[in-house]
Amino acid sequence: PAEAELEALQHADVAALLPMPRAESDKYRRGVVGIAAGSGRYPGAAVLAVAGALRGGAGAVRYVGPAGDAVIARFPETLVSDQGPRRAGRVQAWVVGPGAGDDAGTVAEVLAADVPVLVDADGLRLADAGAVRGRGAPTLMTPHAGEAAALLGVAREEVEGARLAAVRELAGRYGATVLLKGSTTLVAGAGGGPVRVNPTGTPWLATAGSGDVLSGLAGSLLAAGLSTVDAGSVAAYLHGLAGRYAADGAPVGAHDVAGAIGGAWRDVCG
Ligand code: AMP
Ligand code: MG
Repeated sequence: PAEAELEALQHADVAALLPMPRAESDKYRRGVVGIAAGSGRYPGAAVLAVAGALRGGAGAVRYVGPAGDAVIARFPETLVSDQGPRRAGRVQAWVVGPGAGDDAGTVAEVLAADVPVLVDADGLRLADAGAVRGRGAPTLMTPHAGEAAALLGVAREEVEGARLAAVRELAGRYGATVLLKGSTTLVAGAGGGPVRVNPTGTPWLATAGSGDVLSGLAGSLLAAGLSTVDAGSVAAYLHGLAGRYAADGAPVGAHDVAGAIGGAWRDVCG
């Protein structure tokens, strides 16, 4: 592709975008991110999304869903509610979908919110395309190649063979920013323009739950006020570095990746 079609962030770009607390900050002004994720079958997805969100710079993480006990056991600082997204209290951004199973009602409720929403995993399958297009606030969708193929109604190989075209096509169709995960993660804005390529990934990230950590991290950055394109590309950048640091040449679990985000953040700023 022509040079102008693609752009990659560097350490300095990311450092300038990271939300840093100020002397006058309080937890609400830093942003509150809501995580609507997990199910009886996949409680761990909720835990991992919260793990990512806690490292992303929001002042508080709210969790809504059936995995509250598991979330609290691992992360006692989480604000847990079983009342559904609408009644959970104010948030500046939502993440919906990781491990959500078949809870289409929760996805619809989150999509109706007037704040930025990140849709991932089961949420991508459950989201009504018209509801996404009709949203008044920005949307960030984070499919891997298989999820992108399902949304486009094509085979996975077709997406893998034309990733740039696929991410642009999805962004246009949904009127959303789309982050296409994989060995080269691409981020395309709804309005066209250059697509961001993430330079930091590692194949050690190809492990269960890795994407759930990314979702929480990106959602937290959205709540802190980053645009969907910046939140997605900064999250992919930190997540890729965290994967490298956590793995250091040996296999890792997704929770290790979440734990290494702080080190990635520090290095980017150093
Ligand atoms: P998910 O499939 O939702 O768990 O997300 C997987 C995460 O791992 C995404 O952030 C991908 O970009 C990343 N990932 C998966 N496979 C690779 C790979 N071969 N090289 C680099 N990153 C990868
Ligand atoms: Mg996933």
